[in-house]
Amino acid sequence: MERFPLADFAFRDEDTAGRRYPETAHPYRGPFQRDRDRIIHCAAFRRLSEKMQVFTAEFGNYHRTRLTHTMEVVGVARTLGRALGLNEDLIEAAALLHDIGHPPFGHSGEAVLDSLLKNDGGFDHNAQALRIVEKLERRYIDFPGLNLSRELLDGQTFKTHKNRTPLLEIQVVDMADSIAYDTHDVDDALEIGLLKTAQMVETPLWKNAARNVRRRWSSLDEDDFHRAVVHDLIDIQISDVLQATQSRLRALNLKNAAEALETEILVAPSQEISEQKSDAEKFLLEKVYRHPKVMSLRGRTAEWVETLFDRFVLQPEKLPKRYDTVLKQEGVRRAVADYLADMTDRSARMESLRNKKSPRSPLENVE
Ligand code: MG
Repeated sequence: MERFPLADFAFRDEDTAGRRYPETAHPYRGPFQRDRDRIIHCAAFRRLSEKMQVFTAEFGNYHRTRLTHTMEVVGVARTLGRALGLNEDLIEAAALLHDIGHPPFGHSGEAVLDSLLKNDGGFDHNAQALRIVEKLERRYIDFPGLNLSRELLDGQTFKTHKNRTPLLEIQVVDMADSIAYDTHDVDDALEIGLLKTAQMVETPLWKNAARNVRRRWSSLDEDDFHRAVVHDLIDIQISDVLQATQSRLRALNLKNAAEALETEILVAPSQEISEQKSDAEKFLLEKVYRHPKVMSLRGRTAEWVETLFDRFVLQPEKLPKRYDTVLKQEGVRRAVADYLADMTDRSARMESLRNKKSPRSPLENVE
């Protein structure tokens, strides 16, 4: 087996702060390997396969789902982590976890739930991820949730509060998320036809990649050209982040993982690529996320979520039994939000179209 040396500033398995419910060490799996397996085997993770990233099935079958986005983030994050000498098991687990709290219909579903809960603590997919892994998943006899390692919970908490610098491994996952969506959302939008390659090559982030591709192949049709640029874009971003991060790390000469918590965020692109990425994100917001077809989808899905929320708040007895504890302890609105957030796009859509009098719900017999 290949062994990759850890840098001084990597987080060591043996330094883990452990789990809320203490468990004995596994004979051949490290703590974060166990976390990875627990995440992959939980129901919320499987449901990512039927949750949208930006596009739903009505846009065809090329685009990313929340699950394939997650797998791309895992890949980019592990590449960054290995090259930097960081703890790849921790990185893999954190990347698998990062979007697990997304409700159906992406940010539109999230915005609706947040406004429906505005007097009850709001709704945020990062906070929901913590509810899922600490409370809602029922997979083990000895404890609720997945009893994940403290470092993973802290990493997820950072995403909701941003109040302190997280471990370098967590920073890598955040960076990989951004590299993945800044690249694949354009790829999807081009393939679906919401964007034209000619528009993209005008953006600074695409310009360099397009130049590299043209140098390598003199004549490509538009589809091949766009695919080659997408590959190059991932290379450009990863190489830039690695170079910029390595030079910051060299300058600081960190002796251990804890010292990284005392600095600013170190895993980040150069100034130049950072500006190009924010330009690209503005472009994506305007041309893709606010495209009339995407906005129309948002409108419809928001209505479905609202309809379901109102229906179940009036009839909490129709919630599956596994929400009983939340119902008792935190009230009907939170219990309904947890239930709806668990739903896939398809089950939410089917359920919202279902006759209001029907007592059965699609998730009733799932677990
Ligand atoms: Mg993500």
